[in-house]
Amino acid sequence: MRIVLLGAPGAGKGTQAEVISREKNIPTISTGNIIRDALKSGSELGKKARKYIEAGHLVPDDIVIDIIRERLSRPDCKDGFILDGFPRTIPQAEELERMGVHIDRVIEIDVDDEVIARRMSGRRVCPSCGTSYHIEHKQPKKRDVCDNCGDTLVQREDDRPETVRERLRVYHEQTAPLKNYYADRNKLYVVKGQEDVNDTIRLTLAALKS
Ligand code: ADP
Ligand code: ZN
Repeated sequence: MRIVLLGAPGAGKGTQAEVISREKNIPTISTGNIIRDALKSGSELGKKARKYIEAGHLVPDDIVIDIIRERLSRPDCKDGFILDGFPRTIPQAEELERMGVHIDRVIEIDVDDEVIARRMSGRRVCPSCGTSYHIEHKQPKKRDVCDNCGDTLVQREDDRPETVRERLRVYHEQTAPLKNYYADRNKLYVVKGQEDVNDTIRLTLAALKS
C-alpha cells in the first residue's frame, strides 16, 4: 500500500505515520526528517536547504524531488511506503505521477490552525537529549528543566510564533490545494485530529480499512 499523509505542520502526521508503519509493515519516508538530518550532518543538501527551513519556507521542488526519487528506488519501498511531508505542492504531486508512482490512499489529518499554533508555540525541547515537552500538556517536573538530563529547555527556532504563522500560511497557500487534487482522483480520506492522540489513531486505522 502506498499512502500519502497530508496535513498542516504540527498536525501530528509523524505520530500517525509511526502507527501505520507498524500496522502495515511499510517504511515511513519523511522529507522533513531527511532534510533535518542533512542540516545536522552539514551535507551539500543541508547547506542548500538551511535558509528555506529557517524562514519557514518550503525547500525548492527540484531538490525535494531528487531526494524522493532516490529514496523510493531503494528495495524497502517495493511493497509500499508512507509519505510524510511529500508531496507538498501540486508540481511535486505531478512529478510523482510522472515517475509512475501510483498512490492508493491519501489521509489528511485535519487540525485547526489555532490548535496547531497553541501546540507548537508551547513546545519546548531539550538541546542535549532531544526530549520534547509542552508548557501545558507535558510539563517537566521542574519548570524549563529537562527531567531526563537536567539541561535547560529551549524553544526550537521554527516553533517561534512568527515562524509558525509563516509555516501555516505556506501550508494554506501551497499544500492545501493538494486536498482537491487528490479528492478529484478519489483518493482523499479526511481524519479529524482529536484531542486525544489515541482517538486520532483509531480514526486513521479505520480510514485505511474503508
Ligand atoms: P513540519 O514540521 O512543518 O511538519 P517537516 O518536518 O515535514 O515540517 O519539514 C520541515 C521543513 O522541511 C519544512 O518546513 C520545509 O522547509 C522542508 N520540507 C519538508 N518536506 C518538504 C517538501 N515536500 N517540499 C518542500 N520542502 C519540504
Ligand atoms: Zn535532556
